[in-house]
Amino acid sequence: MAELVDDAVPSGPGDRPVTGAPEQVVVADPPPEPDYPRYRVEPGEPARLAERDPDETERYARKKDVAGELATARKRIADLQARLYAEHRRSVLIVLQAMDTGGKDGTIKGVFQGVNPQGCQVWSFKAPSAEERDHDFLWRYHQRVPPVGMIHIFNRSHYEDVLVVRVKSLVPEAVWWKRYEAINDFERQLTAGGVTLVKFFLQISREEQRRRLQARLDDPSKHWKFSSNDLAERARWEDYQLAFEEALTRCSTPYAPWYVVPANVKWFRNLVVARTIADTLAAMDPQYPAAEADLDRVTIPA
Ligand code: ATP
Ligand code: MG
Repeated sequence: MAELVDDAVPSGPGDRPVTGAPEQVVVADPPPEPDYPRYRVEPGEPARLAERDPDETERYARKKDVAGELATARKRIADLQARLYAEHRRSVLIVLQAMDTGGKDGTIKGVFQGVNPQGCQVWSFKAPSAEERDHDFLWRYHQRVPPVGMIHIFNRSHYEDVLVVRVKSLVPEAVWWKRYEAINDFERQLTAGGVTLVKFFLQISREEQRRRLQARLDDPSKHWKFSSNDLAERARWEDYQLAFEEALTRCSTPYAPWYVVPANVKWFRNLVVARTIADTLAAMDPQYPAAEADLDRVTIPA
C-alpha cells in the first residue's frame, strides 16, 4: 500500500517546498523484490521438486494482473537484445525443458514477442539422427551454441541425454552417469567463451498434464499435437521426476543456474521466464559499440 507522509524536511536540491507549509507527498511502495531464490536451484543444494508448487502465482490472481509487468519485461528483453546484437561480443543460451505439454512452445511465443528475429533463434531437438548418434552426445548441441551477438533458445537440449535417455535406458547407466560432469564441463567452457546460460524447467503437475492431454484429444484442431507416445512417457512420470531432480541438482551451477518455473498457470510461467531473462540480460549490461569520431560534423551529401 502506498502511504501518505508529511515531508517537512527538504531532502535535496530541487526538492524544496515552495511555501513554508509542510507538503504532503505520496511515497510509492518500493517495487517488489524479484523472487528468484525461490525458483533458482541453489548450486550444491537439492532441487526438491516435490516441495515446489506448480500452481504458484505469487500475489497475482488473473492474467490481467501481470499484463503490465509482462509487457515491461518483454520490452526490456527487446531493448537489451538490440544492444547485445550491436555489441557483438557475447551471447546468450536459454535452455527450456519440461514434461510433455509443459509449455515450451507457448513460453517461446509468449516471452519473445517483440524481439528482433534476426538476433534470436530457436533450436528444437528431437531423437538424434543416425549421424548424430555416431558422435559424442554433445556434438549436435555444440553446433547450435549461439555465436556472438545472438540469443539461442534450446527447445529440449543436451539434458535429454540424462532424462529420456536415462528413463528409457537408451544407453547403459555407466554411460549416462558420466554425462552430468560432461555437461558441467561443457557449460563451463561455454561460459568462459562468453556465452551466458539460463536454464528453465517448466514444472507442471501430473493432473495439469492430464488436463492438457485431454484438451488435445477433445479439440480436433489440436489432434496434430497429440502423440500416443505422450501416454507412454506419462506412464513413467515418477521416473522422469527423479531424472529431473538429479539433473537439476547436479547441474545447477553458479555459472549456469537452473530455474524451476511454476508452470500450471501459463501467464505466470511467462512472467517468471520473461523477468528472469530480462534481469540476466541487464546484468550482462551489453553496450552499443563506440561511434566513429566526430559524427556530429558529418552531414549526408545530397
Ligand atoms: P511438442 O510440444 O510439439 O510435442 P516436443 O519437443 O515434445 O514438442 P516431439 O517431436 O513430440 O517434440 O518429441 C521429441 C522427442 O524427442 C521427445 O520424446 C524427446 O524425449 C525425444 N528426444 C529428444 N532428445 C533426445 C535424445 N537425445 N535422445 C532420445 N530422445 C530424444
Ligand atoms: Mg511432444
